[in-house]
Amino acid sequence: MNPLLSVTGLRKNYGLVEVLKGMDFEVTAGEKIALIGPSGSGKSTCLLCLNFLEKPNAGEIHLDGERIGVKLGRAMSDRQLAPQRAEMGMVFQLFNLWPHLSVTENVAIAARKVRGLSAREAHELALEMLAKVHMTHRADASPLELSGGQQQRVAIARALAQKPKLMLFDEPTSALDPELVHEVLKVMEELAAEGRTMLIVTHEIAFARDIADRVMFLDGGTIVEQGPARELILSPREARTQAFLKQIR
Ligand code: ADP
Ligand code: MG
Repeated sequence: MNPLLSVTGLRKNYGLVEVLKGMDFEVTAGEKIALIGPSGSGKSTCLLCLNFLEKPNAGEIHLDGERIGVKLGRAMSDRQLAPQRAEMGMVFQLFNLWPHLSVTENVAIAARKVRGLSAREAHELALEMLAKVHMTHRADASPLELSGGQQQRVAIARALAQKPKLMLFDEPTSALDPELVHEVLKVMEELAAEGRTMLIVTHEIAFARDIADRVMFLDGGTIVEQGPARELILSPREARTQAFLKQIR
């Protein structure tokens, strides 16, 4: 089967500093991949490069056979990139909901802008996505009235409303109070069970072990080791992976 996402030779520098030093990996449709690694190893940069929120310096990214960010050998404009970006639903550490819009409007706006749905269709889709993240009861609330865990679940619904082919999560629970982490992980677990394709940057190692099909360990801008989640987490082969896992447990 052709991979849904294929990344080859991905490099990124900030000034003189090379942050991604040539990453190669593939993601099959339906696969859940956890990307782990120390702070500063390039995890966030990698996710941002996938949809050209940061422009890679070298390498190719293909989603469903289509090259991201480059058309006929030329860099695509933001306007040309918009439909490609819509295929990847991003969830960040900080949720960035619009405070002046209701929960439903926050989700509907994604569907309207990105997928060009009518106001009515977008509203219906928003309610459907809010049900998935168990937020129907706060559909009319302002994001300001919600807990961090609830806001993050709304942010997940917003990403889902783009109808993406791939979900990208960047430490979605890192900014949450500990007692709120579980409700967000539970929603992610339910999405995983639906067969969605997910690439998840996380420090929740137990979650990665239980949910991910595969774990990739990134250090210093290279994939040091990757393998089946349980195998890599329980018995890592590389010294750097062993040291990292020991330290965060
Ligand atoms: P991680 O998400 O694994 O913690 P990042 O991808 O955020 O790592 O960062 C990788 C490296 O790139 C770090 O050394 C960081 O300081 C640097 N970096 C990240 N973003 C920028 C930026 N916009 N400008 C300059 N350096 C950056
Ligand atoms: Mg990061």
